[in-house]
Amino acid sequence: MKTHARVVIIGGGAMGVGLLYHLAKEGWKDVVLVEKGELTSGSTWHAAGLIPHFIASLNMAKIHYYGAELYKNLEAETGQSTGWHGCGAVRLAVNQDQVDWFHYVKGILDQIGAECHLISPEEIREVHPLLKTDGILMGAYTTGDGHTDPSGATHAMAIGAKNRGAEIYRNNRVLDINLLPSGEWEVVTEQGKIVCEHLVNAAGSFCAQVGAMVGLKLPVINMVHQYLMTESIPEVAALTKELPVVRDPRASCYYRQEQSGLIIGPLKCSQKHGDSTALTGVLTMRFCRQIWNASNRT
Ligand SMILES: Cc1cc2nc3c(=O)[nH]c(=O)nc-3n(C[C@H](O)[C@H](O)[C@H](O)COP(=O)(O)OP(=O)(O)OC[C@H]3O[C@@H](n4cnc5c(N)ncnc54)[C@H](O)[C@@H]3O)c2cc1C
Repeated sequence: MKTHARVVIIGGGAMGVGLLYHLAKEGWKDVVLVEKGELTSGSTWHAAGLIPHFIASLNMAKIHYYGAELYKNLEAETGQSTGWHGCGAVRLAVNQDQVDWFHYVKGILDQIGAECHLISPEEIREVHPLLKTDGILMGAYTTGDGHTDPSGATHAMAIGAKNRGAEIYRNNRVLDINLLPSGEWEVVTEQGKIVCEHLVNAAGSFCAQVGAMVGLKLPVINMVHQYLMTESIPEVAALTKELPVVRDPRASCYYRQEQSGLIIGPLKCSQKHGDSTALTGVLTMRFCRQIWNASNRT
């Protein structure tokens, strides 16, 4: 392991590895990443991998657009599949406020060339033959949406970064951080110390613990988010084309096809993490206690 680097990134999830990749791509030399477990052993490990375009901020819309293009093209660059599925997505509107909002967002997406069609309930059923459209006024159909395998996508970025000279130290927890009189950071890890100019906290659920190492009290709270995965559904298995992802305000859920079943992600049942203080820093690939129950609307 190096003892000096220009940049040290703490955390090997989608964010940390994404930054490592892009710094290396920008030509930064001497950039390293330290991960306490394996890459993607935090939230990235079990994300649903949805890659949307529908967002009302021009700058964020550009980032979303870039992300989808990146995941489509990374395999050709690195040889590592990102599991990209370009299935498109339909977001449903159930009231006039949402219809107005769809027109507003479409204006933003049109500016950056992200394809978005505002479609009728009949047209929604054409792109998603299994969806009931009771109470639906309109759909925003973003054809460039899709989903990736978050682990594959992160590993592809890791390969791209390493191909450009970046280094990754896995199974190496950061234990402490010291500010040196020179203004550099001394990062104390299980495998030794690294002194660096720039230090990035990309520790995800553990970012508060890492922040505390330099005396920062970060105003972050971990939230539980889970999804439900169905068994094979005959009507889905019989389809010849992958269903678009649906975001449905009637149930506050997203639905996406996974093989011949569905992943159903409830948005409303996110809640404060019950055991944030139990995040000791050594946990990897950990599931939260199941919070789904029959009373959750779908
Ligand atoms: C069920 C679920 C579904 C989701 N679905 C989607 C989706 O469809 N689309 C979407 O965009 N997002 C989704 N998300 C959110 C997404 O997973 C997260 O926003 C993203 O993975 C966060 O990445 P990260 O790199 O910030 O954090 P993480 O992936 O948690 O990475 C942080 C890393 O830091 C490491 N680390 C922590 N402390 C230390 C230390 N002291 N020393 C060294 N390493 C350390 C951890 O081991 C971990 O690997 C979902 C999340 C969940 C839980």
